[in-house]
Amino acid sequence: MGSAVVTVRSGIELLESALAESPPGSVDGDGARELASLFARVERLGAAAKALYARSVTAPGGGHHEVAGWLAEVGGVPVGRARDELAVAELVTKVPVLHRAYVAGELSGAEAKVIAGAAAADPRCAGELLAKKACGSFKGLRDHACSVARRARGEEDIERREARAHERRCVRTYEPEGGGIRFDVLLSKVDGARVLSCLEAEAARIFAEQPDTHERRMADALVRLVRPGPGPGAHVVVRVDAGALHRGYVEEEEVCEIPGIGPVPVRVARSLMGDALLTLVVTKGIDVGCVTSTTRTVPRSVRTALSERDRTCVVPGCGISHHLEIDHWRVDFARGGLTRLDNLARLCGRHHSMKTNLGWKLAGGPGRWRWFNPAVRAGPQRSARH
Ligand SMILES: [Zn+2]
Repeated sequence: MGSAVVTVRSGIELLESALAESPPGSVDGDGARELASLFARVERLGAAAKALYARSVTAPGGGHHEVAGWLAEVGGVPVGRARDELAVAELVTKVPVLHRAYVAGELSGAEAKVIAGAAAADPRCAGELLAKKACGSFKGLRDHACSVARRARGEEDIERREARAHERRCVRTYEPEGGGIRFDVLLSKVDGARVLSCLEAEAARIFAEQPDTHERRMADALVRLVRPGPGPGAHVVVRVDAGALHRGYVEEEEVCEIPGIGPVPVRVARSLMGDALLTLVVTKGIDVGCVTSTTRTVPRSVRTALSERDRTCVVPGCGISHHLEIDHWRVDFARGGLTRLDNLARLCGRHHSMKTNLGWKLAGGPGRWRWFNPAVRAGPQRSARH
């Protein structure tokens, strides 16, 4: 044991002095390529030796009861990853051909994990997979290993796994460090394939219009596909303070956010104002000051504000308070009128029909409503009876 420690220590010293003699940046392109690939081998060798030796650790010390915990601290990695490394080393030792490649520093941690996983299902495939590794990409190796494992596990197992995946199906979202929102989706293979084929088809259509990377096109395709047509569909609500919207950025206690998702830049909220899927809730404190939406569907927040404001049909003298209908009174929706508080009014069925079908008009606004028929010379009527 002692001599191996001495040898490894002097090996590390040799590497350190090589690095000190030719620091990165002082080496030409060819030399740098050679050194980087040599150090990649050192890395693979180090990873293999670390995991293999760690398996024999009996008393980790340092307050760790579990070898994985100790290995995680020594290697500066999460405990889960250390457990993975130990499990791979364990599997590797059971397959001699794999073990030889592993200790020769020929396998990266990821490669060892993939091959060892498949070899656990069918040890005879290790040689075939090592050959595959030598002449292909990592993805090719992983796909091949998957099919080997599938073959070995048999049909019944595939069905059990599919059922389990369906049972565990989920969509989770979280906010990553770099901004945006990430979706973590788990589906059964069948459902996953359905979703993927829709995405691929849409991405191909997008590519015809706007060439871009595959990943970006898939993301655009996802956004396009979940966007419902006009009608009562999903709405994104953005809450923004009136002051911030006007100024272009938030100050102090102000917010500009998508509830449940988090803050978004005011510039983005502004740019979304014409978006059919967006409802912009402009707030002053907690009061709804003005709400806009470019769809005919009136968002709940506007509906609430509107029923507060127009407790009865707004036609002067009407007073009906039940079964009121919402009218785009200033600019009709069909002519591009916005679904926003100052363009909406509540009318009883009869007055709504008179306005829509007989040319009657509403003017003035809250507190000073006027009701008249431009075709009647008498001019605006102060009150109206049914
Ligand atoms: Zn009325």
